[in-house]
Amino acid sequence: MRRPFIAGNWKMNTTVEEAVSLVSAMASDLRSETAVDIVLCPPFVSLYKIREMIAGTSIGLGAQNMYFKDKGAFTGEVSPLMLKALCRYVILGHSERRQIFGETDALVNEKVKAALSAGLTPIFCIGETLEENDAAKTGEVLTRQVREGLKGIPAGIEVVIAYEPIWAIGTGRAAAGPQADKTIGLIRTEVAAVLGADAAESTRILYGGSVTAANITEFIGQPQIDGALVGGASLKAAEFSSIVKQAGAIKASP
Ligand code: PEP
Repeated sequence: MRRPFIAGNWKMNTTVEEAVSLVSAMASDLRSETAVDIVLCPPFVSLYKIREMIAGTSIGLGAQNMYFKDKGAFTGEVSPLMLKALCRYVILGHSERRQIFGETDALVNEKVKAALSAGLTPIFCIGETLEENDAAKTGEVLTRQVREGLKGIPAGIEVVIAYEPIWAIGTGRAAAGPQADKTIGLIRTEVAAVLGADAAESTRILYGGSVTAANITEFIGQPQIDGALVGGASLKAAEFSSIVKQAGAIKASP
């Protein structure tokens, strides 16, 4: 049984003050949810403050990126050791990092390995572009991203994977639940090829891309989909809480 997992990727939104208000507005709702692993991923500058706010709750905290070196002359970067002191999770390989900042599969792989060595759990993102999808290249792209991104990682270690078709991110055009389920089934097969059958069975694979309170049930009700990585809707306290609650209720029902 894989425990449902809902993470909110706030991206480059919220000042520290706004982040505090957002967490205050959602914390009591989220605190009472016990059936779902909930992870908030605010900007770096708010991690310290939010860590204090959620201390003693089951709400998890994650960063949105990191470099793979522990320290040194890498101006502007944040290291696994720095994050380890603040949070448990780190989003890696998000399509915005790949597309806007030119991150390659090889760089993402370095980051995944460094996060794991530091004891962080990566939320490893993969997904195809619209052009790749139209050209029926989704399977090929995801296979490459899984094989390259997870290459060389030790067995028995936790990684969360987020399948985020790029054409669905921030567009309001979510994938269809059954289609996302089928694709995530293929990703699980690839994970088995790289990490082994047991790891594939226990790895949580999320869907991401225009998830809202109105469509979460379409995804969370699918057998291969273990949760969601939520962007825009995670910036609205009531909507994010509703997504979490609906996920908990569906996965808890027989
Ligand atoms: C994301 O950025 O990871 C994401 C899924 O965004 P949105 O939910 O806004 O599409």
